[in-house]
Amino acid sequence: MSKRFAQVKEELLKQRRDLLYEVSNSYETCREIGQDGVPDIGDMSSVAYSRDVLFNLSETQRRRIHDIDVALEQIEKGEYGICMSCSEEISPRRMEVRPFSRYCVECKTDIEKYGE
Ligand SMILES: [Zn+2]
Repeated sequence: MSKRFAQVKEELLKQRRDLLYEVSNSYETCREIGQDGVPDIGDMSSVAYSRDVLFNLSETQRRRIHDIDVALEQIEKGEYGICMSCSEEISPRRMEVRPFSRYCVECKTDIEKYGE
């Protein structure tokens, strides 16, 4: 494994750890809200709202963790930084901004337009 990949891998693993930590924290908060005795109707809606926010938050985080997992897998396979659609190299600048990119800018634009 090249030094550059080793560095990226370390960064990805760190991001993954942070995300897992955040997710487990949200679950903890969720549980606390759920155990909040018997609230009146006014409180009920705010409880439902917080649960929604937490759920959406953790959904985004779960997706991010998946992206990171795929990137880590690609590092192992030596395919990191290669577009999964056209097999061209993704610009290093893009990989720097978003280390778990799976597609080059052109393919990503197409996918956003026409779906994966
Ligand atoms: Zn591409």
